[in-house]
Amino acid sequence: MYITMLGTGAAFADPDRAQSGILVTLDNGGRYLFDCGAGTVRNMVAANASPADVRAVFLTHLHHDHICDFPLFTITGWMWDRPAAPVVLGPRGTAAFCRHLFENGAFDADFRARSAYPLRQGNLDAVRPDVREVSPGLAYEDDDVTIRCDHVEHIPRDIAECFGIRFEAEGRAIAFSGDTSPCDNMVRLARNADLLIHECTFPEAFIEHRRRTGVGTFAHTSPEELGRIARDAGVKSLVATHFGHFESTNEVIRRVARHHFPVELMGPGLMNDVVRDIRKAYDGPLQLAYDLLRIDI
Ligand SMILES: [Zn+2]
Ligand SMILES: [Zn+2]
Repeated sequence: MYITMLGTGAAFADPDRAQSGILVTLDNGGRYLFDCGAGTVRNMVAANASPADVRAVFLTHLHHDHICDFPLFTITGWMWDRPAAPVVLGPRGTAAFCRHLFENGAFDADFRARSAYPLRQGNLDAVRPDVREVSPGLAYEDDDVTIRCDHVEHIPRDIAECFGIRFEAEGRAIAFSGDTSPCDNMVRLARNADLLIHECTFPEAFIEHRRRTGVGTFAHTSPEELGRIARDAGVKSLVATHFGHFESTNEVIRRVARHHFPVELMGPGLMNDVVRDIRKAYDGPLQLAYDLLRIDI
């Protein structure tokens, strides 16, 4: 199988990175999507994959940078002849999110206009997602894959659940953190995995800055912490992703970032620091993700 990193950025619109999206493609062609932030669908097509061919989507949590492209994903699948409802796995609230999107929801005018075409009446189920809100444990299983999940620590759980994932297929295991600060559940999910794809949103100084100023969530994982997680879980390889725009040179991002980050520290050079800090604890194979990176495992 192989993994395509469709989006490797975070909460901002960023010309250099789409928001979160990871596509897994099995040797038999089966495809599974993890998160669907803005830019995910465009990059999926760029990677020669159709939204209509994705068997199941797992939304790790309902932060906008993990779900913005979900309407586009679903409507595109409908237009591109998906034969049946897409399976959507996600936390508590996923059913309400989907219920308010299409028929009688935010895209009702689009639904009514498009479903007036006879061709689109033939696969209305494609725009009626089969939503399954998950609990810790086995989340999904078919002939080819199993997906297990557990809570991770990112948003207070009484506000919103956040999940980390362990995906197994073809005798291999891939773990994906979603968004989280370091937690034992994620280490357990990643135990001896062939590949851990883990968020690395901010360098240490940026998380500290956000903790001090109270801007946004600081419940993320720093590079030093990520190195320890990968070491403690005994993973065979590591991909860091969900980079929080700290390396951006874009003028707009640098201007708005002054409310969020220590702007004087921003720049591409920080990526070298990220590697150095992950390496303090972890010495296995390591890649920093970029959009459309393909990983064969
Ligand atoms: Zn995020
Ligand atoms: Zn988040």
